This record gives sequence, structure tokens and C-alpha cells, in this order.
Amino acid sequence: MKQKKKKWYDYLWIWPIIYFSLGFFNILFAWLGMIDFVVPIFIASLGGGKAFCNRYCGRGRLFATLPKLLKIKSRKVAPSWMYGKVFRYGFLIFFLTMFGNMVYQTYLVFAGSASLRTVVKLFWTFKLPWNWAYTVTGVPAWITQFSYGFYSLMLTSTLIGLIAMILYRPRTWCTFCPMGTMTQGICKLKGKN
Ligand code: SF4
Repeated sequence: MKQKKKKWYDYLWIWPIIYFSLGFFNILFAWLGMIDFVVPIFIASLGGGKAFCNRYCGRGRLFATLPKLLKIKSRKVAPSWMYGKVFRYGFLIFFLTMFGNMVYQTYLVFAGSASLRTVVKLFWTFKLPWNWAYTVTGVPAWITQFSYGFYSLMLTSTLIGLIAMILYRPRTWCTFCPMGTMTQGICKLKGKN
């Protein structure tokens, strides 16, 4: 059977690996993750539907590619509640609340009410020292604080996605991914599913 010619975006699964590696050495690279926040909303708002999810999302591609590379076999379907509206919208609200809290922590550092914390917080609970990545000290502290908060959010959500990938089908994360839920909502509002 003739193999489909690979497009450039077929290799985007490398992007999350580059992203987390850069953030490991210099936390300011965490800001690059904003691309994954802004671009899907932008595309969906401009009428491009779920093109980001279908083609350009590095994380989605990583979850699809890793099981093949690592020969992970799990094809179990996730429990039905994970696909349900209650869980998807509940997770979206929780995620946005955590994002808002992260922005608030950044504001406190900006306002001088809190000092910079050079830790990465996993699953919104476990604090990991990450001070070696604080290599550029000349920028305002709030910029670095946002980097730590955002990197924590990106790492936590990717780990949740990896756990779901191992336990169930490769792209199970996509069924409740906040970005996916938001772009889906925008598509519905625009009457394009
Ligand atoms: S649902 Fe989320 S992780 Fe999946 S492809 Fe879309 S944006 Fe990427």
C-alpha cells in the first residue's frame, strides 16, 4: 500500500518535547506555550474550525505518536463519564480557575506583595524546586513568575494526558482538553462543528 506523504505538521509532535526541554534549562521559554493557547482560539474564531486540533496541535500529535514509538498497546475506551459534558465543562472551569489563580499570583509578584517562587507545581499540589532554570535574572520578577506558573500548568496537563494515553486510547486527553472544549464551543457558536 502506498504510504501517504508526510506533511510538515506531521512532525509537530516534537514541539512539546522541545518546549519542555527549553523550559528545563531556561524557564522564560515557558512563554512560548502561549502559542498553544492563542492559536487554537484564533483559528476557531476566524472560522477555521478545529484545524488546530486536527493538524497543528503538537500535544495531540505527541499522544498519537508516542504509543507507536514506545509500542504501548492500550486501546481501552475511557469510562463514559470522561466523554460527558459534565466532566468536560467541569474540567474546563477548574482549569480556567487554576489559570486565573496563576495570573493572580503573577500579579502579586508584580505588585510587590509576594516574592518570586522558583518552583514548578505539579498537579496544583506538589512543589518541585526548579531554580536552576532561573538563568536570566535581568527581567522583571513577574515575567519569571508567570513562566513558572505557566510551565507548571503545561507540564501538569501533559502528564495528565500521558497518564490517560497509557491507561486508555492514545488521544483520550483530547476528549476533555480545555483548549479542545473551548474551540469546540466557539465552533458551535459559529455554527461550524
Ligand atoms: S483537544 Fe487539546 S490536545 Fe487535543 S488536539 Fe485539540 S488542543 Fe490539542
